[in-house]
Amino acid sequence: MEITKIEPILIHVPYEHGAPKPAMGSGEIRENMDAILLRVETDAGITGWGEAFGFATTPVTIPAIEHAIAPRALGRDPADIDGITTTIKRQLQNMMHGGPARFAISALDIALWDIKGKVEGAPIWQMLGGKAKERLPAYASLLRLLQPDTVARIVEAALDKGYTQIKLHEKTPEAVAAARHAAGPGVALMVDTNCAWYPDQALEMALAMKPHDLTWLEEPITPPDDYDALANLRERSGVPIAIGENLGNPNDVRWLAKARAVDIVQPSVVKMGGISDVWKVINFARSQGIRAIPHSPFIGPGLIATIHLVAAMEDGVPVEHRYCELAESPMGEYFRQEAGCLAVPQGPGLGIDPDPEIIARYRVN
Ligand SMILES: [Mg+2]
Repeated sequence: MEITKIEPILIHVPYEHGAPKPAMGSGEIRENMDAILLRVETDAGITGWGEAFGFATTPVTIPAIEHAIAPRALGRDPADIDGITTTIKRQLQNMMHGGPARFAISALDIALWDIKGKVEGAPIWQMLGGKAKERLPAYASLLRLLQPDTVARIVEAALDKGYTQIKLHEKTPEAVAAARHAAGPGVALMVDTNCAWYPDQALEMALAMKPHDLTWLEEPITPPDDYDALANLRERSGVPIAIGENLGNPNDVRWLAKARAVDIVQPSVVKMGGISDVWKVINFARSQGIRAIPHSPFIGPGLIATIHLVAAMEDGVPVEHRYCELAESPMGEYFRQEAGCLAVPQGPGLGIDPDPEIIARYRVN
């Protein structure tokens, strides 16, 4: 079998989350949920789907797919996932530490796993050695809300919808206090600051949030790979620390573990190298006594790939699920949570292809 075509497809899907649309890290208002889907065709008529991280990196990630990754994968046998991705990583080693070219090869890796599963008639979780599961616990990953009363209102709405675990993207102790007050003591509450603070500020803020019983504090420090500062914060605050979505590749997780900088590592399937590299990181983390809980606030094949990875792990690992209502879900029922859970696809490969009509409606490239 040969890879005959590799096509990135950018979609913008309107959404609502019950509050004003937030600004992203890059400063733009997030008007839509966007996703860079990757469609990989073969001469056998089997098509695989992947996803690359987009958002502010989209204008660089799409050309990375088109000009750096695709020409090196066309004509290759899609069954040789490790051969293809290893060769490309070596040929492009000066852009493979992390960033858009790595996001691009992540999408390719996911699509190749999808093709492999379709050829073998097996879901990806099964190919990774997982046991059959129908559903997985999910946590509501709220968008940034800013005002404490809005935070309280949306936390209550998420709990009403069935979630039992909530992650905020807030930066103030007041917002966290409002969430804890609204949720009550039994609900797992996480706080993601998206690298908000320098190390001294981070200690002060972590201590101010500590009384609200955080399951973890995520990316508290800028830059995200200051492992010494993270280790120091973890030691001095006593608050569990999570990072990982802005690490470049599996090697970074080795240095993170060595520095004793985290309690929870969060590899991202659409950034770090796809299913192959995230599965390596999950197993490495296990060997180091670090919890792995992947990063996955996505609406496309990246979410589905994460569901397969988590399904292949031990019980009780929650899937990160973006808290919002999409105008339409390109991945059908698998984006929808019920009673705080997401369904695990049972079909071959990813187990679901993006809906072509929905893609056509929201495609922007
Ligand atoms: Mg995060």
